[in-house]
Amino acid sequence: MATDIPDFPTEITPRSQDFGRWYTDVVRRAELADYSPVKGCMVIRPYGYAIWELIQQGLDRRFKATGHVNAYFPLLIPESLLTREAEHVEGFAPQVAWVTQGGDEVLEERLVIRPTSETIIGTMYAKWVQSWRDLPILINQWANVVRWEKVTRLFLRTTEFLWQEGHTAHETAEEAQEETLRMLAVYKEFIERELAMPVMDGEKTESERFAGAVSTYSIEALMGDGRALQAGTSHNLGQNFAKAYNIKFQGRDKSVQYIWGTSWGVTTRLIGAVVMVHGDDGGLILPPGIAPYQVVIVPITRGNWRETVLPKAQAIRDELVARGIRVMLDDRDSQTPGWKFNEWEMRGVPLRLEIGPKDIEKSQVVLARRDTREKSFTPMDGLAAHTETLLNTIQQALFDRAVAFRQEHTTEADSYATFTQVMEGRPGFVVAPWCGSAACEASIKAETQATIRNIPFASPPAAGKSCVKCGEPAKVHAWFAKSY
Ligand SMILES: [Zn+2]
Repeated sequence: MATDIPDFPTEITPRSQDFGRWYTDVVRRAELADYSPVKGCMVIRPYGYAIWELIQQGLDRRFKATGHVNAYFPLLIPESLLTREAEHVEGFAPQVAWVTQGGDEVLEERLVIRPTSETIIGTMYAKWVQSWRDLPILINQWANVVRWEKVTRLFLRTTEFLWQEGHTAHETAEEAQEETLRMLAVYKEFIERELAMPVMDGEKTESERFAGAVSTYSIEALMGDGRALQAGTSHNLGQNFAKAYNIKFQGRDKSVQYIWGTSWGVTTRLIGAVVMVHGDDGGLILPPGIAPYQVVIVPITRGNWRETVLPKAQAIRDELVARGIRVMLDDRDSQTPGWKFNEWEMRGVPLRLEIGPKDIEKSQVVLARRDTREKSFTPMDGLAAHTETLLNTIQQALFDRAVAFRQEHTTEADSYATFTQVMEGRPGFVVAPWCGSAACEASIKAETQATIRNIPFASPPAAGKSCVKCGEPAKVHAWFAKSY
């Protein structure tokens, strides 16, 4: 279905006026992504894709450091494979895209475009695993998936998106559970360190569990408008898929056993989360950890600047690059320095380095931080080391600011009156005691739109407390929020 692409926004809508429009304006103006002629599908533009590549590289390094390897499985999955795990097919059926014809030939068996790959990977594992010696299998796939969506939003919810999906097979239940939690911890460490985005790690409730999993764990982040966003999930699949796909092995005691499985994934929606956690009315603010350009050098184009200023700017660029810093030297003649300042601020470059004839005379440059907009004169002597330190400072400052924001927007509620009042008035996380019943969870969702994001590992004990909804004894403290 073709769709008209809306006009490119000329201005960025203020966050306070309309957060949703602000978000879309920033994503498009900063050239991260754009709408496409295919309804529900986006184009990731080079600047946005560069962020994804940095996310990929950072995660891929960590996956390999924890013993995983990459592989690739087909995009198309036969219908008969998908339907083998009953809960799984029920969960995904409404979102599946079908291929029914190849050329002019109607297919004997319909194919689905993968919404996720447990089914096809499980089928292959059944062939590859014979003995306990073949275990564990620790495979990750970088791929695209398709889930038919009615309402879409750039990066956050699109019909096709990019992700990684880890799929592992283990000899014991304990190993599978360890792996599930290990990968959740890998996500948390990476996202907090490189994306400067604090996340709450915990277990999902049964109603929010991945279709076919025994348990699902998630990391949840709080966006600038007080809505939560699920930033990654890790599932303990138990033996559900092993039984459906017949993944068996001969154990150490010679008995035939089913493997224990896990799967885990993060997607390009992380880029949307970065926009919403750190951005301001001026546009994007990128943490240095995943900024395609950590520093932009803007030469002041006065007089014969190409002979005087530019060589110095190039020398500084080379010095920064040699230190491993990602640098853009914007030496375009077609734009004024003032225009470039605004442009790179809007596109979220963490640090701007200005250099003009007067600075060269004084052997200094101007450094301007995107996050605080502070400007300072900095001597050229020791500039690279100073820049590196400043980038680390910015990375930490963004994380601290996001932690403080989350603290300010997290409220404890022991009564339902408080709960509903907070949900209506001041969006954010609400921590509340919960009895564990799906009925309470469902009526809270119906009445307030808030869902349980997860039960954090760090949740305080709920002994002696009553469920915020029904008043029965509470089992846990759950974190509620309206979410993306
Ligand atoms: Zn209850």
